[in-house]
Amino acid sequence: SPSGSPQFLTVLHTNDNHGRFWHNEQGEYGMAARKTLLDKLRTQAKHKGHAVLLLSGGDINTGIPESDLQLAEPDFKAMSLLGYDAMAIGNHEFDNPLNVLEQQQKWANFPLLSANILHAADNSHAYQPYTIVNKQGLSIAIVGLTTTDTAKIANPQYLGDLIFAEPAAALSSVVDSLKAKHHVDVVIAVTHMGHFHDASFGINAPGDVTLARNIAPNTIDMIIGGHSQEPVCIDAQGKPDNQFAPGKACAPDQQNGVWIMQAHEWGKYVGKAEFKIENGVKTLLSYELIPVNLKNADGEYINDYIQPDPELKAFLKPYQTFGEKKLKGSIGYVDGYLDGKRSTVRFKQSNLATLIIKAQMSSVDADFGIISGGGIRHSIDTGEVSYKDVLKVHPFKNRITVMQWSGADLYDYLNIVARFPPDSGAYLQYHKLSFDIIDGELSNIMINNEPLNLNARYRMSINSYNAAGGDGYPNLSSLEGFKPTSMTDADVLKAYLQKYSPIKVNSL
Ligand code: ATP
Ligand code: ZN
Repeated sequence: SPSGSPQFLTVLHTNDNHGRFWHNEQGEYGMAARKTLLDKLRTQAKHKGHAVLLLSGGDINTGIPESDLQLAEPDFKAMSLLGYDAMAIGNHEFDNPLNVLEQQQKWANFPLLSANILHAADNSHAYQPYTIVNKQGLSIAIVGLTTTDTAKIANPQYLGDLIFAEPAAALSSVVDSLKAKHHVDVVIAVTHMGHFHDASFGINAPGDVTLARNIAPNTIDMIIGGHSQEPVCIDAQGKPDNQFAPGKACAPDQQNGVWIMQAHEWGKYVGKAEFKIENGVKTLLSYELIPVNLKNADGEYINDYIQPDPELKAFLKPYQTFGEKKLKGSIGYVDGYLDGKRSTVRFKQSNLATLIIKAQMSSVDADFGIISGGGIRHSIDTGEVSYKDVLKVHPFKNRITVMQWSGADLYDYLNIVARFPPDSGAYLQYHKLSFDIIDGELSNIMINNEPLNLNARYRMSINSYNAAGGDGYPNLSSLEGFKPTSMTDADVLKAYLQKYSPIKVNSL
């Protein structure tokens, strides 16, 4: 461009879709309404001579049974019709076998990016690290990054030889090499790492703030993020903006000269950033988190209602109908509440965990069973139970496995898994097993009401996630006595409910 004449860029963004291709029961968000909004924003931006980008901070997969049981096909295909330019690969993109992610890349007409997912064998990129798009005379590089926590929290049975390299170094090296090859006006990191205020990432892997602080000035211009699932809005003191609510003003974070933006989750908002680019200097002209048919506490739309795009709605409708058909209808009955709340299943024994483990034990004829509390993702309410209710509890399609081994080997194993602390996903839920932990020592171990016999053999049911090392459980999958099955956790729970309903929660 002729030096001196400014150019303009509008960046539109979302993140953490988690299966929300359709609106919720209250008519909030949904991709068809998002399409209407995006079309309007694009038209306005083009009138003003802006280049327009649409990016996603990843985690398209997992969260809504209608999407999960179709492997997020509606979500990826609709994102293509919405005109996404690129997305970051999120940790939940590894909830399915890797060939599903390959298929999802085919459904998407935009690249799924990550510059820090490598093959262990030769450190080569496992996925496309970056893309360059040219719009309105601007050349824009977009580099993807994925949380290194994926190695810990994703399903180890699917990760194969993938490793998650330190993001700042991966980003710097990719940006150096792409800048050596191409002239670029703007560099954007699209990430799925989380925004942790003032880099206080706690037990999580470092996120976007740490990244921005750990790269050389002018490596990138902005981070479009995800994973922490928050509206990133900062007040005048640089603190999280407690005044933010849907429809209110939002100022993004800025660290080391890098803007950091995130649009909460589920397509609740479209983030919109307008930049002026003049003699290489980028100025943020405006920022907004635009609600997509969000309602207030009185059930009224906060902004003017956005009419869902009829064509996209017609495209998505068959997926929604197919999903609803598969999921509706009663498969059983429970006479009380089965507690799957995060504040229960990661802290103490839960009656829902007992039911789940009973179902898994009976499917493989086990003496006792275990599951990590974090794998239980929803409660089941009193009354009729549908397959949808079951899939909300078990969205991950894990397989049931059984481990048959000696009391002595089991003793060593229990000494690891029984000690995972409360408030972690790893926290152990168990049935037909009991033990005491006194001064850190495991004692009084009972299996099926009998003291553990080091010379006896025991059958333990466990899902494929924990058996493969998920949540830091010892990897059982290559041991003698380990047997996988093709039954999923959801199908086993469904079969148990069908067979034993009504379930009496007080006699579980
Ligand atoms: P994100 O923030 O990316 O959406 P998340 O919501 O899954 O991640 P957490 O709510 O902390 O993050 O949940 C992590 C826990 O979920 C793990 O500790 C584990 O117990 C459970 N989990 C994750 N993936 C699986 C899986 N494939 N199978 C079973 N349990 C899983
Ligand atoms: Zn995530």
